[in-house]
Amino acid sequence: MRSFFSARLVWAFLAATFVFGTNLGVQAKELNVVATIRPLYALVLAVSDGVFVPEQLIDANLSAHTLQFRASDARKLENADVVFWIGPALETALEVPIVNLARWAQVVAMMDAPGLDLIELAGGDDPHIWLSTANARAMVDTIARTLIEADPDNREVYEKNARVAKNRIKNLKRQMTKFLGDVKNTPFIVQHDGFAYLVREFGLNQQGYIRETVDREPGARHISELRALIDHNDVRCLLGEPQVTSKLARQLASEPGMRLGTLDALGLDLDDSPTLYARIMQKNARALLKCLTYRAHEQDTNPVTAPGPAG
Ligand SMILES: [Zn+2]
Repeated sequence: MRSFFSARLVWAFLAATFVFGTNLGVQAKELNVVATIRPLYALVLAVSDGVFVPEQLIDANLSAHTLQFRASDARKLENADVVFWIGPALETALEVPIVNLARWAQVVAMMDAPGLDLIELAGGDDPHIWLSTANARAMVDTIARTLIEADPDNREVYEKNARVAKNRIKNLKRQMTKFLGDVKNTPFIVQHDGFAYLVREFGLNQQGYIRETVDREPGARHISELRALIDHNDVRCLLGEPQVTSKLARQLASEPGMRLGTLDALGLDLDDSPTLYARIMQKNARALLKCLTYRAHEQDTNPVTAPGPAG
């Protein structure tokens, strides 16, 4: 069992160290901040720009739903002052490690952030909250507030960064709305049911999904419903994902007139920078446009013009 009194002693010790450090004119220790999935890491990276670089907890090559916890992740959690995660509905495998290892950290579950507009599903709220730019702006506010509490000396930088980040996201939304305007009525199907926020925000015409969750294969009834839907609504675009495009998705996509695209909710191969979040969303917008503007018999001769970095 965790000792309440020893926790208080450690806090007292840390507080004393901090006060002495300040009195002696020694610079306060840099914050150790951990973020789980890459889009959340991207938002923290934007708010902390110029002060510190956060640690990313989840290997960018893994799906958040099926992640494996590693020894290096344990070390990051043990050393953390602040941990940002989406919450147990998404990074389920992190629930126990966070409680056990991030004992001294302030743990912030973004699903509980004020100002989110959540989509309710049968089993609880949809955890893919970062795929709404409005939610991302609310997340920036929570990140800034948390960092200011943990490191008041850098309040002005965090406040300025948060303003810049939110403006960039506002521009991103304007740009994506324009960019996706012509294809928003074109029907498509996704690999797993993780894009409802994107669909809602930009009024897209998602007709269904292959898997309800990334790790569950669909049953025969769902497959035949899916095929009927594709025929009935003349669906020509199927969007897989880098980690989890299933055999069934490839099979359906190989049928005449069908096109297989890739949505990457996590921004797997994008570099770190304060614009990372915008680039993750732009990459998805380009993937949607490319898949949805396809017509049978048409060669891919008109390369889609990509939107540049927002803001
Ligand atoms: Zn998902």
